[in-house]
Amino acid sequence: MVLRTSAKYLEDLKAQSPEIYLQGSRVDDRSTHPAFQSTITAWGTFLYDSSTDPELQEHVLADGLKGKTHRFWYIPSSQQELVESFEATWRIAEYSPSGSYTRLGRDQLAALRVVTRSIDADRGTEYGARLEAFVQRFQDQMLMTAAAMTDPKGHRQRRPREQEDPDAYLRIVDRTGDGIVVRGAKAHVAGAVAAEEIIVLPGRALHRDEEDYAVAFAVPVDAAGLKLISRDGHRAPSAESAPVSHRDMVIDSLLVFDNVVVPTERVFMAGETEYAGTVASLFPDLIRQGYLATDVGRISGYLGAALLVAEANGISAASHVRAKLAEMAKLRSIIYGLGVASSHLGKVLDPGVAVPDPVLTAAGQQFAREAQYTCLRHMIDLAGAGIVTMPAVADSQNPSLAPYVEKYFKGATAGPDRIRALRLAHDLAVSPYAAWWSAETTNRSGSAAAEVLQMLREYDFAHHERLARRLAAAR
Ligand SMILES: Cc1cc2nc3c(=O)[nH]c(=O)nc-3n(C[C@H](O)[C@H](O)[C@H](O)COP(=O)(O)OP(=O)(O)OC[C@H]3O[C@@H](n4cnc5c(N)ncnc54)[C@H](O)[C@@H]3O)c2cc1C
Repeated sequence: MVLRTSAKYLEDLKAQSPEIYLQGSRVDDRSTHPAFQSTITAWGTFLYDSSTDPELQEHVLADGLKGKTHRFWYIPSSQQELVESFEATWRIAEYSPSGSYTRLGRDQLAALRVVTRSIDADRGTEYGARLEAFVQRFQDQMLMTAAAMTDPKGHRQRRPREQEDPDAYLRIVDRTGDGIVVRGAKAHVAGAVAAEEIIVLPGRALHRDEEDYAVAFAVPVDAAGLKLISRDGHRAPSAESAPVSHRDMVIDSLLVFDNVVVPTERVFMAGETEYAGTVASLFPDLIRQGYLATDVGRISGYLGAALLVAEANGISAASHVRAKLAEMAKLRSIIYGLGVASSHLGKVLDPGVAVPDPVLTAAGQQFAREAQYTCLRHMIDLAGAGIVTMPAVADSQNPSLAPYVEKYFKGATAGPDRIRALRLAHDLAVSPYAAWWSAETTNRSGSAAAEVLQMLREYDFAHHERLARRLAAAR
């Protein structure tokens, strides 16, 4: 198989004309718009380039049926392949945490592969064959996708049909001989401005009378009636001031489906309410393993920055510093272990889709959420106040100011080296990019409450009850 290059991806982006809005105005060409360059790198070119990157290549390439393929376009079918996918994800996340999220599309298709098989078996439908045709194209062309699952939801404690506005959840408003017409929206869709296809899943379990909301499909990002209202544009800072975020900040969008026609061959669920809950929990089970890998990669960055600022401040040998570094290494190792264990303990579901252990991934998410805050706090502590107060790049470039900046920012290392270390720490811990990650980590994979529900559903409490009865009976 010919692996897609970043040049081909960029060329193909120009062939589509999605209706994207940024700060109230229509964007003519997303591929050249300055606000989207970082997204296009993290959610596009970086991934394609990773296939040939000497450090990443061996981790991100898999042996597919048609030759070498990238793991983010390859659906794991065994526990071992889950481990390899975890490895590929955290390796990518070390350089591009946002880029590691582009496997969302693959994981959506994996969940749909399981669910369409069940629907077809029970109902005699043909969703599976349609999905496989789409998966083939996704894999052969290495299409870049965005994952649309979260509905706007209106009043959170009301069901879709109880909402004042029935469009608060994306729904089918018409069924034609050739397909369906959908109206509503999907919120917070990361990377959509850099995607070629949008894959849509139902966002929750549904009751029998909610069949219009049980809908899954894929549409090109420039489908008629699909509008992307992109969040306030990220004006990419310079590489010097923001060594990571200038190329890793990803824009999310509100996707408005204003009577979008979805042709039959792109519809993977339309009305089968009893399967909506399965796909809405299977997809998070798959992607939570990816989130663990992202956190392993992110903590690699925090740990590296902590080492650099400690060296720059001349405190590397201090015992409290060593204790903090050890705790960061411990937390990263535990998250890594949970990701690997959840893969080894995963199950292979019909028709051959490997799914990580749902309890270990949900528990891991809860653990990783707190752990990454602890790691950030340690890194901020070791950096000192300069992490937020350092002079601007322009000050270092002004010949009359540079000597002062260098003289007074000198630590155990030269002024420019210490400032470089502080800028990295700043970018990872206190920049707008860091704030995005903080909100993302708290709210991703549904909410923390959704993880608790999943653990309550999947954990083998009966085992403990049996054990306790036996212990209580003193036999
Ligand atoms: C940066 C970022 C990127 C994202 N990218 C994507 C993406 O690419 N695709 C995608 O589909 N989604 C994406 N999400 C959405 C993410 O999955 C959601 O944040 C998540 O599903 C939560 O939904 P919500 O934001 O509507 O919050 P809510 O569901 O409103 O949750 C807010 C709070 O309300 C509570 N709550 C909600 N409902 C109830 C209820 N019925 N009863 C009691 N309490 C309730 C929750 O537990 C939580 O504490 C992204 C989110 C972020 C922050």
